[in-house]
Amino acid sequence: MPANSLKYERMREQMVEKQIAARGITDTYVLAAMRKIPRHLFVSEALMDQAYGDFPLPIGEQQTISQPFIVAEMTQALQLNKDDRVLEIGTGSGYQAAILAEIVFRVYTIERIHSIFVKTRRLFDKLRYHNIVTKYSDGTSGWIDESPFDAIIVTAGAPEIPKVLVDQLSVGGRMVLPVGDQYSQDLIRLYKDDEGIHKTSLGGCRFVKLVGEHGWRDQ
Ligand code: SAH
Repeated sequence: MPANSLKYERMREQMVEKQIAARGITDTYVLAAMRKIPRHLFVSEALMDQAYGDFPLPIGEQQTISQPFIVAEMTQALQLNKDDRVLEIGTGSGYQAAILAEIVFRVYTIERIHSIFVKTRRLFDKLRYHNIVTKYSDGTSGWIDESPFDAIIVTAGAPEIPKVLVDQLSVGGRMVLPVGDQYSQDLIRLYKDDEGIHKTSLGGCRFVKLVGEHGWRDQ
């Protein structure tokens, strides 16, 4: 529907201007990707008109699509290059993966809830995001066969940094993840070089739990 898509295009433009650029996101690739990706297609029909608001939204199974600003902040912090191979833990709605896929060569994304995995895989096919590779699994163990990765993004809150994921990061690789308890986390950026691991904090955030062998053990 062209009329409708124009409406959402305007909402998207407003979102980027007021929530993303106005709050200091400067990476032109991130801004361009957020202007382009139709975020409303990643939520249920009933929530489409809210898709460009400054908040997370439910996507079923008690999971959420992250607030647009958080997606932008985490993506910028990964300092992506177009040849990069990126691993995402927590596919969810697929929105973050689509943003990444717009910027880099290939995105590998893992989801542990089967119904979400199936639904989002179908959406990627429908939208023709051919450079997104999906897997139904516990992502806290990473994706050893495809490692090392230039960047890793974890979009669920971890009790601590899973060492297995750090091991799957290339030298020069970047990782962004929320670390803390189930109510609030610190958004951590990690950089790996010859000397080791360098960590910085990007501030507070609130994500759903990263559940798995190297995450939270319970629901
Ligand atoms: N990046 C998503 C955010 C979804 S919320 C988006 O753009 O919409 C976090 C997702 O992480 C949920 O779908 C949840 O099921 C998933 N998740 C939690 N623990 C996981 C694990 N160990 N492995 C893979 N996915 C996990």
